[in-house]
Amino acid sequence: MLIDLRSDTITKPSPAMLEAMFTADVGDDVFGDDPTVLALEAKAAAMFGMEAALYCTSGTMTNQLAIRTHVRPGDEVICDQLSHIYLYEGGGIAVNAFASVALLPGERGKLTPALVRDAINNPADPHRPLSRLVSLENTMNKGGGCYYTIPEIAAIKQVCDEHGLALHLDGARLFNALIETGESPVAYGQLFDSVSICLSKGLGCPVGSLLLGKTAFIAQARRFRKMMGGGWRQAGYLAAAGIYALDHNIERLKLDHARARKIGAIMAQRPEIVDVMPVDTNIVIVELPETILATDYVQELTRKDIRAVTFGKHLVRFVTHLDFTDEHLAAFEQQIG
Ligand SMILES: *Cc1c(COP(=O)(O)O)cnc(C)c1O
Repeated sequence: MLIDLRSDTITKPSPAMLEAMFTADVGDDVFGDDPTVLALEAKAAAMFGMEAALYCTSGTMTNQLAIRTHVRPGDEVICDQLSHIYLYEGGGIAVNAFASVALLPGERGKLTPALVRDAINNPADPHRPLSRLVSLENTMNKGGGCYYTIPEIAAIKQVCDEHGLALHLDGARLFNALIETGESPVAYGQLFDSVSICLSKGLGCPVGSLLLGKTAFIAQARRFRKMMGGGWRQAGYLAAAGIYALDHNIERLKLDHARARKIGAIMAQRPEIVDVMPVDTNIVIVELPETILATDYVQELTRKDIRAVTFGKHLVRFVTHLDFTDEHLAAFEQQIG
């Protein structure tokens, strides 16, 4: 049996989700009259207690639009050195926003108020880029799916407020964090100036991310989206999947986390594995000895019909998701040998 744990993006829409998509009421979103897109944006904004939302193709687009909208050319974005916005968005911060980046050494990708405070440049010093935006990631992909709690974020928010910095959240897997902490999306709406969430990861949609923020901010981001060619027409067929996912696929993330912990436990038993990062949500990162390259290990897994990705020279990542069932978990245990 093929076990695909490369990412939680590999899921295909369930029959019920497809039904919602096929029967969606659509219009032209560039004209602002696709009722299903409008409904998804309104639903997400209400969930977070935020004013407005913008439905986009990808989390890279929502992050990049947020950064572009928050900063001016030459400004600086403060983030962890493991951030997706820096590592995995093609240098977009430089190209789309003409901005500089301060990369901080957090713990498993998580920043602290002290780290952020020390990274803020003196605005009176013309040598230094103007610190304008702090970006957090929750859950933290490169940190093995660890998460922030609201009090941790509130302490960082206070530093931002003291220095007049905006705060953005790359919440590609935010719902994975919320399911663990029991915190509400509204608390996030109160702390962040902008929030990006992905519908195409754990929530099981084929496509789509949302950017949330104040009305004027979202209007400006919409302008930049059009400029990038991101205006889309009968996008309601896809937005319908998003509405379905927000209604049906959040609670079940608990199952993904339980299965990820099981995979972590199975891998921890294996003689060739040096270490397994703590499994906090749906991501499992294992460390190989210096004698085994991650690329070779992933190839060996492929021969066992198990797919994973390299996550460093000696690191391999597994991600559980909606299409990975208990049956697959049993097969994983068998096939890994
Ligand atoms: C997947 C992901 C994104 C967005 O990726 P897209 O493939 O562009 O949708 C952003 N941040 C993190 C942490 C992610 O894991």
